[in-house]
Amino acid sequence: MKIETKCLHEGYKPENGGTNALPIYQSTTYRYDSTEHIGKLFDLTADGHMYSRISNPTVAAVEEKIASLEGGVGALCTTSGQAASLISILNILKAGDHIVSSSTIYGGTINLFAVTLKRFGIECTFVDPDASENEIQKAFKANTKAMFGETIANPAISVLDIEKFASIAHRNNIPLIVDNTFATPILCRPFEFGADIVVHSTTKYMDGHAVQVGGVIVDSGKFDWTNGKFTEFTEPDESYHGVVYSENFGNAAYITKARVQLMRDLGAYPSANAAFLLNLGLETLPVRVERHSENAMKVAEYLNGLDKVEFVNYPGLKENKYHVLAEKYLPKGCSGVISFSIKGSRENAVKFMDSLKLASNVVHVADIRTCVLHPASSTHRQLTDSQLLAAGITPGLIRLSVGLENIDDIIDDIKQAIANI
Ligand SMILES: *Cc1c(COP(=O)(O)O)cnc(C)c1O
Repeated sequence: MKIETKCLHEGYKPENGGTNALPIYQSTTYRYDSTEHIGKLFDLTADGHMYSRISNPTVAAVEEKIASLEGGVGALCTTSGQAASLISILNILKAGDHIVSSSTIYGGTINLFAVTLKRFGIECTFVDPDASENEIQKAFKANTKAMFGETIANPAISVLDIEKFASIAHRNNIPLIVDNTFATPILCRPFEFGADIVVHSTTKYMDGHAVQVGGVIVDSGKFDWTNGKFTEFTEPDESYHGVVYSENFGNAAYITKARVQLMRDLGAYPSANAAFLLNLGLETLPVRVERHSENAMKVAEYLNGLDKVEFVNYPGLKENKYHVLAEKYLPKGCSGVISFSIKGSRENAVKFMDSLKLASNVVHVADIRTCVLHPASSTHRQLTDSQLLAAGITPGLIRLSVGLENIDDIIDDIKQAIANI
C-alpha cells in the first residue's frame, strides 16, 4: 500500500459486520479465562492486553498504523511528545551515560536534555548540526550512547542531514534518534536515511486539529543492540524473571523493552479516546500536509519580497541555506512552518503579531488554522540569549504556521498586519 492508503487502512481491520471506524475500547482491564494465560502475559510469553497502562486495543491500532507509515517494526504511543523523547532516551541510557544532540531542536527537548536529564546523571553535548563529521565527532566520549536531531527543527526550520548524523552515530556503534514531528512520515521517513529510532509529538500535524496532546516512539528494528555497549538489552531483566530483550524479542527488542519496562514503571500511556482522536488526524494527514506545504511556499515567497522583512527561513526557497538538504530529504514539500524576522526592534515583531486578525496568536504550531508565535517571549523564554542563538533563534524571530485557509485570505491578513508596523 502507498502511504495515503496506509493512513486509512493500516492498524484497524474491521471484521465482517464490525464497526468501520476504529472503536474506542474504554476499558482499563482485559478478561481471561485462566490464571495460566494471565501468568503467561506477565512472563511475556503470550500476546494480549493486560492493563491499559501498557497497552490497549484502540491505542495498539494507532501504533500499528504509525509504525507502518514510518516503515518501522513497532511503535509505542505516549501521552505527549515530551514523554516520547524522554522514554526514547531512558530506554538506552542510564546515569553516567552521555548524549550528543543537535543544538537546533525543540526548546522543551533542550531543557529535558540540558537540565532534567542532567539531574538524572545523564549528560548531553549539543553540537552544531551543520558542522563537519570530524567536528561533530569531537563531542563523542566513551560513555556516549545515543545521538539526537530533528528532521525540520522547531523553530529554527533548519533541515537535518540525517545521513551524515546516522553515519557518525553508526561509526560510534550507537543509535540515531530523530524527532520527525514537523516533517511527518508523509514528507520524510528518517529510517530510509539510516535513523534507528523516530519520535514524534503527535500533538502537531498528526493530530492536526489541536485537540489532543500526544507522542509516539517508532523502532526501525535495524539497530544491533548486541554490540557490547547496551547491556540492558543483552543481560537478564530482573523485573521479568530474567528476560533478555535482544534474545526474546529479536529486532523488536527496543520497542518491547520501552513498553514492558519503562511504560510499566513510568505510566505515560495515552487513553483510548486520545488514540481515537489521533487516528482521525492520521486519516487525512497526507492531504493536509501537502496543502500546508503548498500554502507555506506561497507565503514564504510573498514575505520574501517585502521591505519590512529582514529574512525568511523556509527550506522550500531556493536561496535558503537548507534548500539542497530539503531537495534530498523533503522532496514532497517542507511542511507549513516558516520563520521570519521583521526588520527593526523586537517591538515591531510584537506589533505585527498583535495586528493579525485571521492568524491566531497561540502557543501551538502545525495546526489546521494559521497561527503565529514569538519564541523568544514564549516557548523559548527559559533559554539564555546564547542558547537562543545556538538554537537558531533571533530575538525578533516570528514562527508562522501556515494553515489550510484559502491562501488569498492568509496573505491578505499578513499584508494588513505588515502595513500596521
Ligand atoms: C511540540 C514538540 C515536542 C513536544 O511535544 P508535546 O506533545 O508538546 O509534548 C517535541 N518535539 C517537537 C519538534 C515539537 O514541535
